[in-house]
Parts: sequence; structure tokens; C-alpha cells
Amino acid sequence: MASRGVNGKFSKLELFEAVPDVAQADRRMRDLRPMGWKIDNYKVNPNLKPDEYLVRELGTRVDLGEAAPKNVRKNITGPKRRRILERDGHMCQVCGIRATQEFPDAPGRTAVLTIGHIIPVNRGGQNVDDNLRVECQRCGDESRDITVDPPTGQQVLAHAVRGNLKDKRMLYGWMQAGRRTPSDIEKVFQEWSRLPHAERLDVMTKLAEQVIKGLESE
Ligand SMILES: [Zn+2]
Repeated sequence: MASRGVNGKFSKLELFEAVPDVAQADRRMRDLRPMGWKIDNYKVNPNLKPDEYLVRELGTRVDLGEAAPKNVRKNITGPKRRRILERDGHMCQVCGIRATQEFPDAPGRTAVLTIGHIIPVNRGGQNVDDNLRVECQRCGDESRDITVDPPTGQQVLAHAVRGNLKDKRMLYGWMQAGRRTPSDIEKVFQEWSRLPHAERLDVMTKLAEQVIKGLESE
């Protein structure tokens, strides 16, 4: 793969052939990013087929024995992982999905939550709470793996001012906190999710009565 050089295309199949285990191959791709490799896929380059990748910039040539930069992405485990999960309400801070929920646009594919870095480690991000957030595997892969051109401040502001005042206030709160915090109603959903099945049904039915009453009085 590295032998392709800059602007060299390779397919996932070739990567799989080079790395026998599929899960291993995906990991291999991920590991290249923090080492300075810039690799495009079809999402960012319309000239590529879905399974093609294009090397835009060569990073550390581990295959030639170059030393990988220190502090390459570490998996966050143990008490720190639990602390961040709890703080972020067990919810991907990018798309809002929760563990084991199905992706709305990919039925059958369920979310796995990991702890990601806001400032990537290869750009000096540290393993401190303020730089960590809960991400699903998909959002994490996108922010780590795909070198999409970041949006401009103007674009983000244009999107931000679209919402109503309540949305804007919530967004402003998230910006101040540096992460997405669950709203009060999302916290109730989390509590409800932890109830045993029978109690969940009971609470849901009682809420349904209230919703119907509310609709009737409207
Ligand atoms: Zn996500």
C-alpha cells in the first residue's frame, strides 16, 4: 500500500489481502491516520469507487521502520471510560445515538460507544477529560479516518442561527460545555431505559394516557 506513494489508489480488497483479518485491516486504516497519513475515500473524492482509497499524503513509514510518533491514540478504559460515559449520558456526542441502538439509516447496524479525542492525539490532544468525549464507532471513524475538509465558520454559523431560540440556547450551552449534554427529557429517557421491562411498559402506558389527554384538550 505504502509502495503506491502519493496519489496512489488502492482498494480495500488489496488492504485485506495485505492484512489477512478484516477487522485487522480496518484497524490498520485507522492506525495510519494518527501517523500523518491522509487517505481519501469516495465520500470526499467523487472520482473514487466505494471500495477505493487514495493516498494524498504519506505519513510515518512504519513499514520502513520509521518510529511512530509517541502518544498514538490510546484506548481509554477503566474508571476514566466510565466517568466520560456517565458525564456524556451514554450518548454519542456527535449524532446522539446510544449503545446498541440501530443507526436510523443503516438498519441492522448497531452503535458501539467509544471514547474519542476532540483534538486528535496527532495534533497534540491529550487524554484529559476536557479533550475526551463519547463517540459511536461511525462518528469516531469519520472524525478520525476521513479527511473531510472542515466546514467554514460562516457555514456553521449559518446552520446555528436556523434553529428557534430554545435550540439556540441549548446549542450555546453545549458550546460552552465543549460537548453535548443530555437535555432534561433525554435524562428521563435514560432513566426509563434502565427500568425492567414490565415497569417500562407501565410507565409508557401511563404517559400515553397523558399524551392522549393533552391532545384532546388542544
Ligand atoms: Zn455518532
